[in-house]
Amino acid sequence: MSNKLLSPSITLLYSSAMNGTSLKKIDHLGIAVRSIENTLPYYEKALGLKCERIEEVPSQKVRTAFISIGEVHLELLEPTSEDSTIAKFINERGEGIHHIAFYSTNIEGQLAQAKENGVRLIHEVPFEGANNKLVAFLHPKSTFGVLTEFCTAKDPSHAH
Ligand code: ZN
Repeated sequence: MSNKLLSPSITLLYSSAMNGTSLKKIDHLGIAVRSIENTLPYYEKALGLKCERIEEVPSQKVRTAFISIGEVHLELLEPTSEDSTIAKFINERGEGIHHIAFYSTNIEGQLAQAKENGVRLIHEVPFEGANNKLVAFLHPKSTFGVLTEFCTAKDPSHAH
């Protein structure tokens, strides 16, 4: 009797796992900082890592510094305006880890799968982020406090 009751939910677990994922790796961690200039000596001197480049993303009102470590990179996010979401984040919570980004090979499908499973999307449609990528965010209220980004190469030939 109890076995019969259990088996349908086991089947459901397996079938939801069969939906699979297009997420391939952690692409980067976004780290909110007040000043890239003041932060870089820690990463470059104390940790010995290297800042590869700094890019301004006007649509997000941030300057971004890219630091690679293995296949992952760190993105230091410095607000360029007081009404930037990064400025608001720092004012409310201080400097620190802002978001985690997963690399997806099917960002639209992955967003749809999240939505079907009750996750609130900040962006229904991916937009152009830094580093020639398309990005979209999931709301931290439905991801247990972790602002979550999906990203994918805009031009697949540059995917890495
Ligand atoms: Zn990001």
